[in-house]
Amino acid sequence: MKFTDFNLKPEIQAAVDEAGFKEPSPVQKDAIPLVLEGHDLIAQAQTGTGKTAAFGLPIMSMMKGDGSVEGLVIVPTRELAMQVSDELFRFGKSAGLKTATVYGGTAYGKQIERIKQASIVVATPGRLQDLLQSGKIKINPHFIVLDEADEMLDMGFLDEIKNIFTFLPKERQTLMFSATMPNAIRKLAEQILKNPKTVSITKSETTNTNITQFYYVVQERERDDALVRLIDYKNPQKCIIFCRMKKEVDRLVAHMTAQGFKVSGLHGDMEQKQREVTIRAFKQGGIDIFIATDVAARGLDVNDVTHVFNYHIPFDSESYVHRIGRTGRGGKSGEAITLVSPNELRTIKRIEKDVGTKMTTQVIPTRMEVQNNRNDALITKIAETQITDKAIELVKTLQHDLDIVTIAHLLASMVQNEISVKGKDNIGLGLEEIELLIERAMQNRGGGGGGRNRGRGNYRGGNRRRNSNSGGERNGRHGRNGRNSRNGGGRS
Ligand code: AMP
Repeated sequence: MKFTDFNLKPEIQAAVDEAGFKEPSPVQKDAIPLVLEGHDLIAQAQTGTGKTAAFGLPIMSMMKGDGSVEGLVIVPTRELAMQVSDELFRFGKSAGLKTATVYGGTAYGKQIERIKQASIVVATPGRLQDLLQSGKIKINPHFIVLDEADEMLDMGFLDEIKNIFTFLPKERQTLMFSATMPNAIRKLAEQILKNPKTVSITKSETTNTNITQFYYVVQERERDDALVRLIDYKNPQKCIIFCRMKKEVDRLVAHMTAQGFKVSGLHGDMEQKQREVTIRAFKQGGIDIFIATDVAARGLDVNDVTHVFNYHIPFDSESYVHRIGRTGRGGKSGEAITLVSPNELRTIKRIEKDVGTKMTTQVIPTRMEVQNNRNDALITKIAETQITDKAIELVKTLQHDLDIVTIAHLLASMVQNEISVKGKDNIGLGLEEIELLIERAMQNRGGGGGGRNRGRGNYRGGNRRRNSNSGGERNGRHGRNGRNSRNGGGRS
């Protein structure tokens, strides 16, 4: 199936071509024809499945562009409001359809001015209710979209949503998108939708197959070391580390910064301006690593996130899907990496079952393995580097006093930091032991807690992995000065 099969307005089709979308995603295939036929819709789809275009393209294709507000999209968070707006703006700009973004924490004046000129308003529930109730705006949109409806209910916006609908026209087309369909969502749908059609993307389609999922079993106290080691090993271009609590975000930001990484935190207590600046820096590459809570990163749409790390496993399967959906976007591949303690193994198994996916168990790489990786990356980099006139000049100057072998040794020692890895050698549990713990957890015998102590003896002296460099002293004395090489060494 192609986008041209939908017979969208030529300007909207041109925007699809310009965005480089080749083939409609499953939710787009199902939803776009139904919306174009004028039906109300209830669609089960996560972020990352192309849901914004699934509602945006057909409603914009049907808009008159008469200068009034024809569409209203209600979303749970400011971040999602900005992202949905950006996406709708690029689809609608050639058709002259302007978008206004409306959320709390900023001045009313400018937002009201923008609404007056917009065809589509993308708003969070609180600020939208304020504007409607106080009579600051009067709008009559025909197309109304509730995006991430389950999130809005989880965040306690049910009353606001019901109230907002009292200000909206009875004659309308209403579309509801939700990642999950709990009872509260079905009840709300009964109240605001008329004879809706249902679109449900099956489990295997909701989990993006571009994302490879791993988990590592570590003791509680090893989480920080494991995270640093894995980032050293994976060398992500851009990654998000998810934490459960704001406090943990702050602590990890301090820890990772001290280790020489370019990181920034994102959580609900940050000023709006600061959040926008941080997100922009992450998108543009000024920051490599984002450390965030679930709510803060919800809907975050950065196309080139290569890795998602779960510092702690989330409590529920939906959060897991939301989190890992930050990578592997727009047809690219990504990795999702979860750290679990032995007593969280049962949670991993439950999530695998709920989501209908399989995660691969792995063992945290040793220092030697990371070093080998870095060596390889450095060798590739050297092989690909063009020899410049300046470099030749430098060597010629050095040759006045030194022979060529000494010069080579000196230059090599200058890049030593790029390939030296700090920290203790063995972190986390070995494969055999993980298997044993899983077996016990699933049989409900002994629980995970017992595994914590058992964990030590079994693998330490054993055949845990090849190249295990035992007896590795923490090399803390040398500090982490070489760490700024993290961003240079090995990255292509
Ligand atoms: P969403 O689920 O709306 O958050 O979309 C996730 C990402 O996929 C966004 O960056 C979209 O621009 C992109 N996208 C949406 N539909 C398609 C498509 N049919 N082909 C390629 N990329 C798409």
